Amino acid sequence: MQVFHTGAEWQKNWLYSIQSEKTIGLVPTMGALHEGHLDLVRKCKKECDITVVSIFINPTQFNNPEDFAKYPITLEADLKKLEVVGTDFLFLPNVSAIYPEKPVLSFNFGELEHVLEGEFRPGHFNGVGIIVSKLFNIIKPAKAFFGQKDLQQIAVIKRLMLDLSFDLKLVIVPTRREIDGLAMSSRNLRLNPEERVLALILYSSLKKAKDELLGGNSWLEVSNQIRQDFVAKPLAKLEYFDLIHPDNFTRFKNFDSGQKSSICVAAFIGSVRLIDNLPIIT
Ligand code: AMP
Repeated sequence: MQVFHTGAEWQKNWLYSIQSEKTIGLVPTMGALHEGHLDLVRKCKKECDITVVSIFINPTQFNNPEDFAKYPITLEADLKKLEVVGTDFLFLPNVSAIYPEKPVLSFNFGELEHVLEGEFRPGHFNGVGIIVSKLFNIIKPAKAFFGQKDLQQIAVIKRLMLDLSFDLKLVIVPTRREIDGLAMSSRNLRLNPEERVLALILYSSLKKAKDELLGGNSWLEVSNQIRQDFVAKPLAKLEYFDLIHPDNFTRFKNFDSGQKSSICVAAFIGSVRLIDNLPIIT
C-alpha cells in the first residue's frame, strides 16, 4: 500500500498515469477502522481497479469540540487492516494540506439542514459538503463508497453531486453490525462496558418499532412507546426517533406501507453520541 499526504503528490506520481486506463474507487473515512469500513474497501476492490482510502478527521464537520477532541485515533491498527484487505493507496493528509486557508464558501442543503442530523448538528453538513467535494476533486474517483449507516449523509452527498455535476458514481454499502446488533462505529470505542450494553437500545428500538409498525400499530403509538423506553434509561438521552423518506428526509406523521420509509435514531449514551437507522419499506 502506497501512502501519500497531499493532492499534489497523488496527481504528480499516480493519478495521471492510472486514470486513463483504470477505474479509481475512493473510500473516505475518519479512521479508527472497523469491519464496516472494511466492507466499503472490499466492495471498492470488487468494483474498481484501484482502491484509494482516505483517513482524515475533518474538523469542519464537528459541531461539538469534545466530540472532535475525543475522536478515536488508531492509525497503526488502521494501516494493518488496510494492508490485509489489499488497499492500493492511503491518502493521509494533515489539516493544512486540506485547509491551507479556512474555507469561506459554505453549503446550505435546504430542508436537509433542518431535520434530524441537520437540526441537532448545525454546520455538520456544511463540513461534509466541503470535505467530500475536496476529496472528489483531489482523488478524481470514478466511484465513491459510503455506508448506509450515515443515511442522511448519503442524501446530502447525492444533492451535492446533482447540484455541482460531480461526474462519478455513488455506491452505498449496507450497515455492518456487531453480533448483538449494535451498528459498528468508531465512536463505540469510547463506550465503557456499562454503556456498551446500554447502546443496544438504539438497534433494539429500531427493530421493535419496525415490528410494531408492520404489525399495524400507528407511528404515534410506536414512537411514544420508544420515547418512554429511553426515559426509563437515565444514561441514554434520545435526540430523535423519526420515520422519514430516505431520499429527501421528509418526516412522516403516519406510517404508509405504500411509501418508501426508514426510521432514524440518534442518542447520547453517556457522553457518546450514536446514530443508527433501519429501512422499513424499500
Ligand atoms: P466514518 O469514518 O465514520 O466517517 O465513516 C466512513 C464511512 O464508513 C462512511 O461512509 C460511513 O457511512 C461508513 N460506515 C461507518 N460505519 C459503518 C458501518 N457500521 N457499516 C457500514 N459502513 C459504515
